[in-house]
Amino acid sequence: MLKIENLTVGYSASVPVLHDVSISIGAGQFISVVGPNGAGKTTLFKAISGTLTPSSGRLSFEGEDISSLEPSRRPHLGIAHVPEGRQVFPSMTVLENLEMGAVPKAGRDEWATNLERIYTWFPVLKERAGQYAGTLSGGQQQMLAIGRGLASSPKLIMLDEPSMGLAPSIADFVFEKLMEIRRDLGLAILLVEQRVAEALQFADRGYVLETGRIVLEGDGDTLMADDRIRQAYLGM
Ligand code: ATP
Repeated sequence: MLKIENLTVGYSASVPVLHDVSISIGAGQFISVVGPNGAGKTTLFKAISGTLTPSSGRLSFEGEDISSLEPSRRPHLGIAHVPEGRQVFPSMTVLENLEMGAVPKAGRDEWATNLERIYTWFPVLKERAGQYAGTLSGGQQQMLAIGRGLASSPKLIMLDEPSMGLAPSIADFVFEKLMEIRRDLGLAILLVEQRVAEALQFADRGYVLETGRIVLEGDGDTLMADDRIRQAYLGM
């Protein structure tokens, strides 16, 4: 579905942040990218959603080369990006934030069904539909950001550190919901996370990104059992 081949990208052409990164995501797969602060996880998402242009390498989605496709066109292909730090619109209501996600045609066509589903996964969003998003707790804002992404009817949803700044019990709730959403919709998930155990536990495949390079990859269970991961990330 999404194929990233030998991607090199950065904020200026002379200083790449990601070097020769290759990642592949099949339809319905759950892929995790883990790594420390500053490894380049957010940069990877910016390249996929098109706000950064690769200096070399190729990005394709469902067989189509999207390396130079306008960022604003990418959600229309079925790629949703739930950004780091949620970035909900604080002075818009919960419902208006969800509507902002439903810009692609598929999202508009399926709006009523999507809204009902989003409210079933996250009933608190229904209860607070008329409330300004800025007044929600961090966990509720994260649910809203995920809901906004789902409102576009994506085939692939990319989540940038959804657990960031959340109490462990709320982060666990968010991970459980992601699994439920994936079961219900069969959509592909690309997750970047610093919470390595949670991210790898359920992943079909995981990648470890360190200083802009993939240093390890494998299925989730294999990575969880890898001595390097256990020592560096799981404190064992
Ligand atoms: P974190 O978990 O802290 O968000 P990350 O793995 O997502 O880390 P990135 O945010 O992708 O890492 O940052 C990777 C590198 O790119 C870092 O060295 C960072 O300083 C640099 N960087 C990030 N944003 C910019 C920017 N706007 N301009 C220049 N360099 C940047």
